[in-house]
Amino acid sequence: MERYNKITEKNKREIVLLKAFPCAWGKCRFCDYIEDNSRDREEMARLNEEVLSRVTGEFGVLEVINSGSCFELPRETLELIRNIVREKKISRLFFEAHWMYREKLQKMREYMGVPIIFKIGVETFDREFRENYLNKHAAFESAKEVSEYFDSPCLMVGIKGQTREMIDYDIKMLKEHFSLGTVNVFTNNTTDVKRDEELVEWFMNKYADLLSDPSVEVLYEKTDFGVGD
Ligand code: SF4
Repeated sequence: MERYNKITEKNKREIVLLKAFPCAWGKCRFCDYIEDNSRDREEMARLNEEVLSRVTGEFGVLEVINSGSCFELPRETLELIRNIVREKKISRLFFEAHWMYREKLQKMREYMGVPIIFKIGVETFDREFRENYLNKHAAFESAKEVSEYFDSPCLMVGIKGQTREMIDYDIKMLKEHFSLGTVNVFTNNTTDVKRDEELVEWFMNKYADLLSDPSVEVLYEKTDFGVGD
């Protein structure tokens, strides 16, 4: 599995896919990527060290992802990231965290000592679909509430059961409340959540402009960031 890449289009940065403890929630209906989680701290720390040794700092920006939240990374790995930030003169980090960690973000910012763009898997701002169908366990009411903690929401589009109106609303909320965001076009996996081809086609036509919008990254394939499998 590829665990290191450079993103040279929008928001130039290095990106690493690290291994972490199991996602503390672990019950999102569409999620089957928690298979990359482990309980073997030493093995994870070793692998993460190897991956992080490839970071050069050339863009001054590093994104760290794991199948879950950054708070589930081994302590040793977080320490190593902090050292790399200093040694390689990284001035900005991208981390991802679930809504349940919202009160811990500030502590992580202070620990790393550089600004962190916190991404959050919102999937949709439609509370009903997010909570009762996707089982996201992120019961916020509004995009504004999310923006008080997080910097960049990740949306998911093209799921059976989702409507065009929901997607229109999601993109509107993203643009109104955030300066950055990611849109993941859903691809079928081992779960019972299914891709709606017609909806994907509609989205790709209607929102073609997003492909050249510097503030939004559209991931058509799960591996569009060049990491994962
Ligand atoms: S929070 Fe993320 S890793 Fe955890 S179950 Fe949901 S989608 Fe999967």
